[in-house]
Amino acid sequence: MQTTEELLIERAVAAYLGLAVGDALGATVEFMTPREIIYQYGQHKEIIGGGWLKLPVGSITDDTQMSLALGQSIINTKSISAQSIAEAFNEWMKTNPPDIGLTVRRGLLRYRKTQQPIDLIEDFQCAGNGACMRLLPIALATFEQSSEIIKNANLKHAHITHPNALSDAACYMVIQLIHLGLKGEKNLEDLQRVVNEWLETNPQFEYRKKVCQNPSAFIVETLQAVFQSFFNTTSFEECLIDVVNRGGDADTTGAIAGMIAGAFYGKNAIPINWLEKLNPNISQQCEEQAIKIMQLRQQIVF
Ligand code: MN
Ligand code: MN
Repeated sequence: MQTTEELLIERAVAAYLGLAVGDALGATVEFMTPREIIYQYGQHKEIIGGGWLKLPVGSITDDTQMSLALGQSIINTKSISAQSIAEAFNEWMKTNPPDIGLTVRRGLLRYRKTQQPIDLIEDFQCAGNGACMRLLPIALATFEQSSEIIKNANLKHAHITHPNALSDAACYMVIQLIHLGLKGEKNLEDLQRVVNEWLETNPQFEYRKKVCQNPSAFIVETLQAVFQSFFNTTSFEECLIDVVNRGGDADTTGAIAGMIAGAFYGKNAIPINWLEKLNPNISQQCEEQAIKIMQLRQQIVF
C-alpha cells in the first residue's frame, strides 16, 4: 500500500515526465500544419526526434530545459528567488540552446544589462507561452499554498521574461489544474468545470467554440488547443497525440498538456515506449527534481 505522500510524489513525477515526453513528442512536428503532419506521418505518435531542430531521438527542447533550470534554482536555494531563477535562465542561455523563444531571449538580455530579474514594465504586446511552458516546478513547490502565494511565486519566474497579464492568468489556471491532479482528483468534468468558471472572467480563452488547429505561441491559442485535447480525450496517450497533431507550437502544447495530464492520469498512464525513448539523463533529472521539490516544499521560503 502506498501512503498518500507516496502517491502525491508519484503524480508529481508523472507531471514532470509528462512535460518532457510531450516536449519530445511534439518537437518533431513543431511549426508543421496538421495537413503536413498527415502527409508525412499519417498520425504522429512516436518519439522519433527530427523536426526543424533535427533532434536526436528522445531529446527535449527549451520547454523542459528551462523547467529544469527553474527547478534546480528552487532546490538549491529552498526558496523562490527571482534573482537565482534569472541567473539559472541566464546560465542556460549561455549553453547556446538549440531553440530559445524571442521573448525569452529579449527578457534575459534585459536581465544581463540591468541585473534586475523582474521586468516591471508590463508588456501588452507579447503574450507568449514561454512562462507557462516552464512553470511546473512552481506548481509543485506551491502545492496546497494560498492563491496569493501561488500567484506571487509564479510571477518571480514569469516576469523575468513575460510581464503580461494574459500569461499570468494562463499560468495560474494551469497551476490550479496541476494541483487538482496532484490531489488525486479523478473526475475530468470537475477539472473542466474549474476552467469553464474561470472563462467567465477570462473570456479570451474560450475554447469550446472553434477547433484550434496549428496553435501559435500566443498563450491564448496554446491553451485553447491544450484544453480541447485534454477535455475531449480520456487517457494521457490520446491527449498527447491529439494535441501534437494539431501542429504549430506542438512541443509546447505537448509540454503543457503533458504536465497537466501527467498529474491527472499518473505515471502508469504514460506509455512505456515513450518513457523508454526519452533521453535517460533527462528522465532521471525530471524524476529527481519532482521528488526533491515535493520533499522540501514545506521548507520553501516564498
Ligand atoms: Mn521548445
Ligand atoms: Mn515551442
